[in-house]
Amino acid sequence: MPHKHPFGHVIYRRMAHDHPVITHGQSIYLYDDEGNSYIDGSGGALVVNAGHGIESIANAIAQQAADVAYIHPTMFTSSVLEQYTQALCEFLPLSDGRSYPVTSGSEAVETAIKLARQIQVAKGESNRHIVISRWMSYHGATLGALAVTGKEKMRNLYLPMFKDVPHIPPPYCYRCPYDLTHPDCDLRCAQALEDKITELGTEHIAAFLAEPISGATIGAVVPPDGYWPRIREICDRYGVLLIADEIMTGMGRTGKWFAVQHWDLEADILTLGKGTSSGYYPLGVTATRGAYVDLIAENSGDFVHGGTYSHHVVGAAAGLATLKYLQDHHLLKEVNKKGKFLERTLRKTLSEQPFVGDIRGKGLMWGVELVHDKATKKPFNPAHKIAEQIADEALTRGLIIYPGSGSVDGTAGDHFMIGPPFCINEIEIEEMIRILNTSLQTIFARSE
Ligand code: PLP
Repeated sequence: MPHKHPFGHVIYRRMAHDHPVITHGQSIYLYDDEGNSYIDGSGGALVVNAGHGIESIANAIAQQAADVAYIHPTMFTSSVLEQYTQALCEFLPLSDGRSYPVTSGSEAVETAIKLARQIQVAKGESNRHIVISRWMSYHGATLGALAVTGKEKMRNLYLPMFKDVPHIPPPYCYRCPYDLTHPDCDLRCAQALEDKITELGTEHIAAFLAEPISGATIGAVVPPDGYWPRIREICDRYGVLLIADEIMTGMGRTGKWFAVQHWDLEADILTLGKGTSSGYYPLGVTATRGAYVDLIAENSGDFVHGGTYSHHVVGAAAGLATLKYLQDHHLLKEVNKKGKFLERTLRKTLSEQPFVGDIRGKGLMWGVELVHDKATKKPFNPAHKIAEQIADEALTRGLIIYPGSGSVDGTAGDHFMIGPPFCINEIEIEEMIRILNTSLQTIFARSE
C-alpha cells in the first residue's frame, strides 16, 4: 500500500509506516484517495461514537466559528458554553455537576489532578498532594498524565523527567496480579488501595485515579462486581477523592452514559474526552461536584490553572451538537442492542481460534487478548508485534481495529480493541468480524 504523502514535513508517530490519505468519511466508513474504503471498527482510538460525516455537528462547529471563533476564558463567557455545560450536567453522574472544558484527554487528566489538590487544600487538608493510580492504565501523554499512567512502554523513556506517583495493580482477573480467583480473592486488588494509603500516610493522599473499565493498555478489562463499591468505601474512609477517567468509556461507549453507572458509583471528579465531541473537535472535559467548586470559590476565589484554549466556544458547540445527536438518535439504546450482537458474534467467531486468550468488554467497547499458548497464557514474543501485524492485515482488507502491546510486563502482551461508531448495524458488524477473522487466520497461519 504505497500511500506515503510526497511532501514529507510531518513527524509521524509510526515513522516506518505508510499512511493512507483519507479524503472523507461517512457513517462507519472512511475513504482514501485511491478509492479504498475502510470500516472504522474502532472509531480510531474509540473516539467516533456518533459516526463520520454528521452534518449537524459539522454545521454547529462552522456556525460557531463564523459567529465568534475565540474568546479568552478569563475575560468572557458565551451562551454556547453555558448551554453545553448545562446540558452535560443533566447527564453527569455528579451532584450539581460543573465542567471545565479543555482540548484533550491528557489535559482533562492534568486538570483533574490539579483540581483534586485544590479541593483538598480548600478543605483544609493542605498536606494532601499524592495521587495514587494503577499499573496497566493509560491516562495521557503529557508528563503529568504520564506519571499517573501505568503503561511502562510509554513511560520508561521519560521517567527521569517527571515526578512519579505510586501505582497499585489493576483488577485484571484473566491475569490476576495476586494469582487469585474471584470471588475467593476477596478483592485483593481493591484492598491494595487501602494498603497503599496507609503505607504512605493517609494525610498525604489527595486522590485515587483510575479507568472504570481499563482502556487502551490492556483492552477493555471489566473489573469484577464489588471492586468499585469497595474502592469508593476506601476513598471515603480516608478522605481520598476518587477520579474516574471516563475519557474512553464516557458518553455511552459501554452501554451507560458513563461506565461508573454500571456500579451506581458517584466519583468526585470525572474526566472526559474522545466521544465527547465524537472526534469532530479536540475536546476534553474535567467535571466535579458543585459543592467542591463552591468550596474553592469560598476559599481562594479562583481555580489556579490555565489554558489559552480552555472553555473554547467552538469546542462547546461541538460538544453540545454531539450530545444532542446522541440523544436525538437514541444511540445509547443502540449501543446496548448492537453491543450484545457484537459480543455474540465476536465470541462465536473468535473463541475457538488458537491464539485468542480472552474476549472481554461492555457495550460497544471490546478487547481481544492474544496469547501464544492458551493453557499457560504465555504472551507472544514482543518482537513479532502480533497485534500490529493483525491490525495492518485488517487494514489492507478494509477494517480498522485498535492494536495494543506491552500490556503484560511492559514489553510483552498483545491485544486489539473493537469500538465502532454507535450507528453500526448488524450486517456491518458481521462484515467487520468476517474481515477480522480472516485477518487473524492469515497472521496466525504465519506464526505457527
Ligand atoms: N485517559 C484515557 C482513559 C484514555 O483512553 C486516553 C487516550 O487514549 C487519555 C486519557 C488521553 O487522552 P488524549 O489522547 O486525548 O490526550
